[in-house]
Amino acid sequence: MTSGRSSKIAVIGSGLMGSALARAFAAVGHEVAVWNRTPSKAQAVGGGTLAFEELREAITGRDLVVVSLSNYAAFSEVFSSKDVVAALAGTTLVQLTSGSPADARNALEWATAHGVDYLDAAILAYPAFVATDYATVFYAGSRAVFDRHLGTLQAVAKNSVYVDEKIGSAATLDCAILEAYYGGSLAVLHAAAMCKAEGLDPKAFFAQKNSFLGLISVTADAAQDMVARDDFTGEQCSLNTHVAAIEHIVRLSQDARISTRFPRELLENYRRAVDAGLGAQELPAVFRTLGKD
Ligand code: NAP
Repeated sequence: MTSGRSSKIAVIGSGLMGSALARAFAAVGHEVAVWNRTPSKAQAVGGGTLAFEELREAITGRDLVVVSLSNYAAFSEVFSSKDVVAALAGTTLVQLTSGSPADARNALEWATAHGVDYLDAAILAYPAFVATDYATVFYAGSRAVFDRHLGTLQAVAKNSVYVDEKIGSAATLDCAILEAYYGGSLAVLHAAAMCKAEGLDPKAFFAQKNSFLGLISVTADAAQDMVARDDFTGEQCSLNTHVAAIEHIVRLSQDARISTRFPRELLENYRRAVDAGLGAQELPAVFRTLGKD
């Protein structure tokens, strides 16, 4: 089942991502069966894949069963019948459905109870990036099972990263990266809205992309070190000074009559750290007040 050898793979779910996964496996010569709740979408995958109407038939005798559904509730529903579960005997199930670490733990419990090898995975890519150098997939679970299938799984992403044996670790890393992505993206969009509301062409802000991404990068490096040492003292800029800067952002948003939710939420988080007595420390000291609500 390593690279260079053709595997029998079933891809369950022919949504946007599932279709891209199925085509990626087929493109490197694997024999790919696809199944989808709405059969027409499975038939539309094409690219040399075989569409099955019966789930049991699609998964029988497969080396790998790759699941890409909306959520784990859909996964539980799809794999609920006894004959479907029986057809998984001898295969490895790779869960590429996004979820939480608790979802992953429940799925492993289910797989173990049914004697199925299970890897929990999280894909960091849009479907168009599947099988390109821009795709990353994180895997959690048995290292031996991962190593056995790595060559095959690399059809989806050369950058297939084994995170940890803890089954929730891929979902944890995915959630962490997505938080940075969604939070960062919202900040960027709010910043553009501030510019527009103040009559400054947002292009001027976007042109500074390297400046603000560079600042975030430097802060992430400093935070990594400070969190590891549990020491947030420094000589660069105190939290008190940062809080004053965030107050300006709230003030601008109020004056320009655009949403203040995001900067107020920022301010609340940073002020909480100051209220906890951390005002003289560096920005990453906020980490200390995020451990509990
Ligand atoms: P999608 O296009 O909406 O496809 C969802 C799939 O789930 C469809 O095959 C749908 O079947 C199936 N489904 C939903 N509920 C079901 C149920 N109760 N029973 C059976 N099948 C059910 O979504 P997607 O973009 O492919 O996303 C799939 C997974 O990939 C998600 O977990 C998502 O978070 C993850 N992901 C997606 C992206 C992305 O950029 N698209 C990126 C990273 C991760 P029907 O066709 O019958 O509705």
